[in-house]
Amino acid sequence: MRALLIENALVAGMRSADDLHPRGAVWAEDGVIRALGSEARAAAAASAARGEAVERVDAEGLWLFPGFVQTHVHLCQTLLRNGPDDLPLLPWLKTHVWPGEAAHDEETLFLSARLGLAELAAGGTTAILDMGTVRHTDAVFRAAEAAGLRVTSGNALMDDAAMNPPELFAETSEALEEGERLFARWHGASNGRLRFAWCPRFAVSCTDRILEEAASRAKAQGVLVHTHASENLDEVALVRERSGRANIEHLREVGIGGRGTVLAHVIHTSEEERRLLAADGTAVAHCPSSNLKLASGICPVPDYLARGIRVTLGADGAPCNDRLDAFSEMRHAALLQKIAAGPGALTAWQVVRMATAEGAEALGLGGVCGTIEAGKRADLVLLDPTAGFALPTSWRDDPYGPLVFAFDRGNVVETRVDGEVVFHRERRGARALAPRAAEIEDAARRLRERRSGNGLRHGGAS
Ligand SMILES: [Zn+2]
Repeated sequence: MRALLIENALVAGMRSADDLHPRGAVWAEDGVIRALGSEARAAAAASAARGEAVERVDAEGLWLFPGFVQTHVHLCQTLLRNGPDDLPLLPWLKTHVWPGEAAHDEETLFLSARLGLAELAAGGTTAILDMGTVRHTDAVFRAAEAAGLRVTSGNALMDDAAMNPPELFAETSEALEEGERLFARWHGASNGRLRFAWCPRFAVSCTDRILEEAASRAKAQGVLVHTHASENLDEVALVRERSGRANIEHLREVGIGGRGTVLAHVIHTSEEERRLLAADGTAVAHCPSSNLKLASGICPVPDYLARGIRVTLGADGAPCNDRLDAFSEMRHAALLQKIAAGPGALTAWQVVRMATAEGAEALGLGGVCGTIEAGKRADLVLLDPTAGFALPTSWRDDPYGPLVFAFDRGNVVETRVDGEVVFHRERRGARALAPRAAEIEDAARRLRERRSGNGLRHGGAS
């Protein structure tokens, strides 16, 4: 048995705002939290008395939170970081992202995913929902298997020949077969850490048939559906032109909605669309840094929360951010609403909930992670308030404001998934290792060469 005791930390369980335990303790057996507080210490003492090996972490002065959950990420795009900075969504996709994704082979995609997972782990993120790309998505799962994070991913469905570049297109039945193959190969692998999701890219890229198939297969298999929706006004107009309906209404018409559905962005919505989202339990993945960089708009988060719509956080892909960093997303989410809706419209506590418990619920992992409590997996982030420039924290008697506004990745001491260290600030041996700089630049160079070889430099979408 792997036994773990983390003690003397300020434990923020995230079940409620006052779920705070100074000098708290967490006891985990084989990666599952079994006891908290004095019971945790007693369990560790009993285990040690039986002669069992116990990993003890004295976290005096540190803060322990549930690992962050990011509900919208593109690991395949990490190698496309630092692309053009000044484009809106559709030209940015056509000139940079789609040609770059189309240029991937197994090797570059594996490296892109490794780089992204290393960055996520270093920033305290333990679980993600990833939109894979059209081909080679096994490489994303292989990287996730090695890195040790909790990853849900699937091949991006792009089956409308008129709307997608030919190099990044898979015909309907081919795409569905690839999804079925990935589901059979990876769903539930690595002790349940890896899961498959159906990922139609967005309504603009997809035929109605594949949207309907993705929705019905997801329901039958008990897996998630993940897509982009209403990120950009041009996209919303295109969906209306093609379907005659508002985007969320169109998705609902083809069966996409309800619990088990995670929609990225959801910025431009009508009263009727918001009513639908609230009624069926669809989750929103809010990506504030991406929305700012692509000038997409401001997601009406406080309005959604007031209606009971579940809102979660994600960094989106590296080239529209250019970080995969939960701290940046929490900070931007909070700051944006101060301008859009007023200084008290979205509190730091609500933002940290979005980044933890709400994210886990949206991914169907509410019983697995997102809070620190007995029975859940030990997916944790240990933070050092004295690192960097986050002090003093003593003006406040809660940790949420400092976490959202003052902390950054420099405050992360270690990140654990299933109780195992995936990142530690001083240990090179942690699992989610970043590739070397030379490997990263070499892979990016190969992508650029292949992209121009494909004639894709200027994009191919019609
Ligand atoms: Zn995205």
